[in-house]
Amino acid sequence: MAKINPDFAKELKEYGALDLNACYNCGTCTAVCSLSDEDNSFPRKMIRLSVLGLEDELQSSVDPWLCYYCGECSETCPQQTDPGELMMTLRRYLTAKYDWTGLASKLYTSKIWEFGAIIFLAAFILVLFIFFHGPMTTELTDDGGVKLNTFAPWKIVEIGDWIMAGLLSFFLLSNIFNMYLKIVRNDKSIKIPLKLYFTEFWALIVHFATQLQFSKCDTELTGKKYTFSTYWIIHWFLMTSYVIMLIMIMVFLGWFQTDNIYEWWHPQRLLGYYATIGLTIGIVYFFIERIRKKSEKSKHSHVTDWTFLVLLFLTTITGILVHIFRIYGMPYPTYYMYVFHLMVLFPMLMIEVPFSKWSHLAYRPFAIYFNNVVIAARKQSK
Ligand code: SF4
Ligand code: SF4
Repeated sequence: MAKINPDFAKELKEYGALDLNACYNCGTCTAVCSLSDEDNSFPRKMIRLSVLGLEDELQSSVDPWLCYYCGECSETCPQQTDPGELMMTLRRYLTAKYDWTGLASKLYTSKIWEFGAIIFLAAFILVLFIFFHGPMTTELTDDGGVKLNTFAPWKIVEIGDWIMAGLLSFFLLSNIFNMYLKIVRNDKSIKIPLKLYFTEFWALIVHFATQLQFSKCDTELTGKKYTFSTYWIIHWFLMTSYVIMLIMIMVFLGWFQTDNIYEWWHPQRLLGYYATIGLTIGIVYFFIERIRKKSEKSKHSHVTDWTFLVLLFLTTITGILVHIFRIYGMPYPTYYMYVFHLMVLFPMLMIEVPFSKWSHLAYRPFAIYFNNVVIAARKQSK
């Protein structure tokens, strides 16, 4: 028998702003949603499950991850129930439920935990540098640049990077495994042939790299198969910039954190500029969107939406300043700014990647992949 949590609506409010009781179940929201279909019919079903407090059904549902928050349903809801925001709230709730450590729940529902964790991780980096930094030489390289690798040798920073990458991968992948258990293994009546995990794998790669589902968001209005809106383009630019930066600092740090000053057209600088421009445009755009609150998807901002944007902004701006101070031969500003850069970068990655906003980038393509596997298995068993 299905378990009912009578306090569920109250609990869910901690993850976002909602008034579920206003919904009178008309179904307009589902009818206008371009991403809803007969296999995955939402958002009305999600509202019903939430009103009834059917937590197991919600946790085994993939539907919140299939919504890309175009806001179409919220605009047309006659009761102003805001189903788009419910889907966003459910994504935060599910992120907390997949996380076996319980940290995601604490970070989403408590400002003390959110800011306490940021301060703690930033202080950890500061203490490491106070005790273990290299000589703060004012001697410059032959190109007139700062000898950053004397102050913070990349080989030592890289060891820290690998430890961090190991922790991030462990937490994120174990949470994704939890998601898999809830979505795929929950229904014991479906037998999943092993082959399907391979034949459907393309979905994971394609949806991670292109966010194809997002481009289908407004197709109900435009009548096109895909709609690459400004929002989609900027979101994709931001996402690829973020991933490029992550790969450069985690995998190619020796190539990226160099004392050499290359020509502007060198691939190291071009990739750095691509990532910096993408991050800057994305951050400014989303800041303005959230402040103006004009579109449905920007009307409600959870505190974690702001902390993600602020941390990303500080990481980007301090990264730009380190680059400028280094190539223009300013040793002390380079060293201090480098420490500050890592003090924001470290909490941003440790909090956002496995437990908060960034994890959505991984959960969405995995959800689509798991969903395709289940649908294909159902079709085969008919
Ligand atoms: S959320 Fe609004 S549009 Fe959707 S079923 Fe409820 S009242 Fe109707
Ligand atoms: S926000 Fe858009 S994609 Fe999400 S449920 Fe509403 S109409 Fe569908």
